[in-house]
Amino acid sequence: MKKETICIQSGWKPSNGEPRIMPIYQSTTFKYDDSEHMGKLFALEESGYLYSRIHNPTNDLVAAKICELEGGVSAMLLSSGQAASHYAIFNICEAGSHVVLSAKIYGGTFNLIAMTMKKMGIDCTVVDPDAKSEEISKAFRPNTKCVFAESVANPAMVVLDIEKFAKLAHDHHVPLIIDNTFPTPINCNPFKWGADIIVHSTTKYMDGHAMTIGGAIVDSGNFDFSLYPDKFPGLCTPDETYHGIIYTEKFGKAAYITKATVQLMRDLGACQAPQNAFYINIGLETLALRMERHTENAQAIAEWLNQHELIDWVNYPGLPANKYYELAQKYMPKGTCGVISFGLKGGRKAAEEMMQKLKMIAVVTHVADARTCILHPASHTHRQMNDEQLKEAGVNPSLIRLSVGIEHIDDIIADLAQAISD
Ligand SMILES: *Cc1c(COP(=O)(O)O)cnc(C)c1O
Repeated sequence: MKKETICIQSGWKPSNGEPRIMPIYQSTTFKYDDSEHMGKLFALEESGYLYSRIHNPTNDLVAAKICELEGGVSAMLLSSGQAASHYAIFNICEAGSHVVLSAKIYGGTFNLIAMTMKKMGIDCTVVDPDAKSEEISKAFRPNTKCVFAESVANPAMVVLDIEKFAKLAHDHHVPLIIDNTFPTPINCNPFKWGADIIVHSTTKYMDGHAMTIGGAIVDSGNFDFSLYPDKFPGLCTPDETYHGIIYTEKFGKAAYITKATVQLMRDLGACQAPQNAFYINIGLETLALRMERHTENAQAIAEWLNQHELIDWVNYPGLPANKYYELAQKYMPKGTCGVISFGLKGGRKAAEEMMQKLKMIAVVTHVADARTCILHPASHTHRQMNDEQLKEAGVNPSLIRLSVGIEHIDDIIADLAQAISD
């Protein structure tokens, strides 16, 4: 099936007399007639539902849809994108492990890996995604367990050379984990280019309506952890909490997601609520349609901003002069997503004035919403900093981040035009 069809038809497939719409299994537990059967479920000898912290049918149906959109073999939902990134890494890392991390990633993920996971004893080396392979290669160590990067970086809009990163990871016998939140599987398929594991903040375009925080992990099943048992003992040696099962032996290509579910979700508990999974599924049904409009509108607005006399610079990979235009054409020929950053010639002060004048476009700390929204970090999230401090933090004082929605293009441009005029 094509992506548009998967968005609608995948997941819940009712049989004769069942509800047309996916039910919300609003139940913490599941009943069994036979205690022997329940014992087997606890021992992972049979598959079935026990407790919604670990598994829930509604969540699994939504995970299956995301899995099919990415072309993976197994997937799971989590309570947030942050939880997804944490589990994806922690599933194959432990105290003493090391991660190679792209410098151009979402700030929250950077804090998670470089600060919080460091306290758990997991080290990382930050690399410039645009550096040459030989340069990035130097970051790997014997205890490196994975490479983590974003297909399109939030908010830098850096497009990753996925093939280059996959090769680097595989040359060092570790999987490549890609955060594919911004382009979504509609615009980019990292598995096609060698990525092994994908994480999502479903909070963004997948939900698409700024309703529900959520995350997902999808495994391609392509990375064979059993080839490197010394590197990945958690997957390749007995788990005593399940009578000594070995995930790679018992679950094959599903080993990675099974372990993350029955071990990490069991112990850390960042589970998605089935009610929320239901909302995410409504978003997923229109994902293909919305991404088309987000991308088309963003391209038109980037071009409009680019020729505007009061605009200093525009960063959007769909513009031919953009540094990442070629990579974007290769990895996401339908376009990247709806996020653009730009700066006004008048700098920080002009940006502050523009924010005051907007009528329809809302100033919110969110991206990837059906509604167009905007943020000027220097006057919002980083307000307390002066220009000098902003530059140290890597934030351009003039930078405005615009998340282009799916309203009519004329109305978005009209609001921008009246707010940008002097
Ligand atoms: C928002 C975001 C996250 C974090 O997701 P939450 O659902 O907010 O926890 C991770 N990665 C990217 C690229 C994001 O934009």
